[in-house]
This record gives sequence, structure tokens and C-alpha cells, in this order.
Amino acid sequence: MKLVLASNNAKKLKELDEILSPLGWELIPQEQLGVPESDEPHCTFVENALEKARHASRLTGLPALADDSGLCVEAFGGAPGVQSARYAQTAANEAKSDARNNAKLLAELGQRTDRNARFVSVIVFVRHANDPQPIIAEGEWHGEILTAERGSAGFGYDPLFYIRELDQTSAELSAAEKNRCSHRGQALERLLERLSVNRSIADA
Ligand code: IMP
Repeated sequence: MKLVLASNNAKKLKELDEILSPLGWELIPQEQLGVPESDEPHCTFVENALEKARHASRLTGLPALADDSGLCVEAFGGAPGVQSARYAQTAANEAKSDARNNAKLLAELGQRTDRNARFVSVIVFVRHANDPQPIIAEGEWHGEILTAERGSAGFGYDPLFYIRELDQTSAELSAAEKNRCSHRGQALERLLERLSVNRSIADA
């Protein structure tokens, strides 16, 4: 199945592609089709994921897959949440920066001991822009925020996200290990289950 991926995040695309290409899904990044990033005006992952998927599908005429994801820190009531990519941005035209986001997170947490956090991913599949029955799946990954970065794989907040059971940060995991347990890996697995249950929806 050929579909447009409603994201310009190359590392996210790589994670999704590693899982989906063996299944025969051809993910085309929206950038390659001239689709500009959509607005993400909502305060929930699911609404933003839907917005992104519909936007990409509307502009390309292809089925679309979108992931909206982020880091929710318990002590901050779930922030930065949907603002994770832009957490350290002070002006709308300022470039997104993982390094500045991580520095801000460390500064805001300071010496706090309650450092529990979770990554959340909501993945949405639409057959077309006005699809009345999008397929939606969510994944969560629980961990703690360290006081200094560890590891160099992955992207975003990975070097600060420590998984106690593995005694590693998500930036210390191989791509395959991360995909096996991550929020995005879980969401995709659920999406695929739903797609096979709803095979007629996906194939129509
Ligand atoms: P989105 O592209 O608007 O969904 O923003 C996602 C943001 O959440 C990323 O830019 C990262 O800051 C953060 N994020 C989401 N997933 C991950 C992950 O797997 N590792 C590290 N950071 C992530």
C-alpha cells in the first residue's frame, strides 16, 4: 500500500518505515510531495494527528498516516505534551531544537525527585481526507527523566528518558530495541491489528 506520511521528521519516518516497509507499505514523506507542515492547533495528540493526516491526504489524494507524539512529565501535569517539539521555542519562526528542548527540561526539573514521565504516540490512518472512520491507535512508554544526557541514538528527548527495567535511556537502545518497546512501536502494532480487523476499511 502506498501512502503519504504526514511528518517532516526524518528520524520518525525512519522508525515508522523500519516497521512498515517489511509489510509492503510504501511511506512517502509529505515533503517529497510538496506538502507543507500542517498546523497543530489542538491540545490533544489525537486531534493533532487527525489534523495532520487529513491535511496530507487532502493535498495528495493518497491515504495518509500521521503520528502526533510527545513527552508528558507527571510533575508538570503532562507538559510539554503536544508542545514537545517546540518546548524551548520563544518565537513562532524560531527553528525547533532538540538540544534546547532537553536543556530546558533539565532546567525546569532542577533537583526535583519526582521525575516520572511517559512518551505518548497517537497514530492515525485515513483512507482519504474525509474518511468518516479513521483508524486510531495509541501507545505509551513509561520512564524517568535523568539529570544528564546518556546515549546518542534516537532523537528528541531520548538521551534523558531512562527506562528502569532496561537500565538504559532510549538513546542507548538500538533502533530495533526501541521499536520493540516504544510508544510509537506499540501504537503501530495496535494500528496494524486494527487494520487487519478492518481489512475491508483499509482496502476499500
Ligand atoms: P510532533 O512531530 O509534533 O509529533 O512532535 C514530536 C516531538 O515529541 C518530537 O520533536 C520530540 O521532541 C518528542 N518525541 C516524540 N517521540 C519521541 C521519541 O521517540 N524520542 C524522543 N522524543 C520524542
